Amino acid sequence: MGKTEKMGINTICAHVGEIKDEQFKGAISPLYMSSSYAYENVDVKRYPRYFNTPNQEALGKKIAALEHTEAGMIFGSGMAAVSHCLLAFLQKGDHIVLPKTLYGGTYNFVVEEFAKFGIEYTFADGFREADFRKALQKNTKVLYVETPSNPLMLITDLRMIANLAKEHKLVSMIDNTFASPINQNPADFGIDIMIHSATKYMGGHSDICAGAVAASEAHMLRIWNLSKNIGGSLSDYTVWLLERSLKTMALRVKAQNRNAKRMAKWLQNHALVKKVHYPGLKDHPDYELAKRQMKGYSGMLSFELIPSVNAEAFMQALKLIKQSMSLAGVESTILSPAKTSHGLLTPEARAHQGISDGLLRFSVGIEEKKDLIADIEQAFKAVAKKELV
Ligand SMILES: *Cc1c(COP(=O)(O)O)cnc(C)c1O
Repeated sequence: MGKTEKMGINTICAHVGEIKDEQFKGAISPLYMSSSYAYENVDVKRYPRYFNTPNQEALGKKIAALEHTEAGMIFGSGMAAVSHCLLAFLQKGDHIVLPKTLYGGTYNFVVEEFAKFGIEYTFADGFREADFRKALQKNTKVLYVETPSNPLMLITDLRMIANLAKEHKLVSMIDNTFASPINQNPADFGIDIMIHSATKYMGGHSDICAGAVAASEAHMLRIWNLSKNIGGSLSDYTVWLLERSLKTMALRVKAQNRNAKRMAKWLQNHALVKKVHYPGLKDHPDYELAKRQMKGYSGMLSFELIPSVNAEAFMQALKLIKQSMSLAGVESTILSPAKTSHGLLTPEARAHQGISDGLLRFSVGIEEKKDLIADIEQAFKAVAKKELV
């Protein structure tokens, strides 16, 4: 909102919210580690758990500018951000509609914790308007989405969700982690609350665990009223590190977008690859929709090996591309959803969601394309050799 909207994305990343070092004229925001501040007046009491230390406030401004909203808040983890947002807008007797595929931690939070708060929930059958409409009830208060979805990169229409929420006076929320604010700004389509696991693209170096939320001042006040009581704030040192990470986010994410698109195309033409799921490919079922609402298609993709290639052995044989549970770092990583995020589901339930044993989720980093290709080729060769003996 306001003047930051006219700034270029790299300028926002590098500068918005920065604290001026009046004392020494240093180039970057000073780090204020104080957990104790003199109170200025009754309204302004600074304290880390009140989410209002100088560094927390500074970073909140950058997050808000990145997501085109009025306010931003930083949390101790992505799940702290998710859980605080959900509990801030849901109470006993309320109902929420969520998508059928959901980040594992969010799914667990809903199915393991909601009963004790008396909150009801429905997972929509699919990602289209009719699926979400069918799941609505009289007591529905929140409409929650994740797009692109994990791991098949299916796209939900953000304007459709925002309109549906307005029609039924619901609060709309998105877990915008997979896209990052560089590739997708849901507020532009009317979505109310943007949630990020800042552990992923915002942190970007696989060395920070944090969460972020962007929303209007009014929505954020409601979240803050709960958050100060629960206490999921982030250490100021990590807040300061996250500010440093965000300075290069647009550069990193754009490089990852470009790499992922090139790798998706290369994998698509490979004889040992059955299918590639990437919204930037013209044969992806949601290509047109992705093009309409995303600025880049992200660094995430998934691909399925042909059944005769052992996916596990292939992953073990990779040398440069690391196996990892997390994603979005500058280094490329890979995981098997069937063995990890979706490992607790029955094979039938996995098949129903389109997740085969040969499906691999690929988080593409900033390495050169030729090095990623060389690593994949040598792994295919190693697996083929093993199978001959
Ligand atoms: C990782 C992740 C989260 C949870 O974030 P943490 O920082 O691990 O708590 C939530 N949503 C998505 C889509 C994620 O990838």
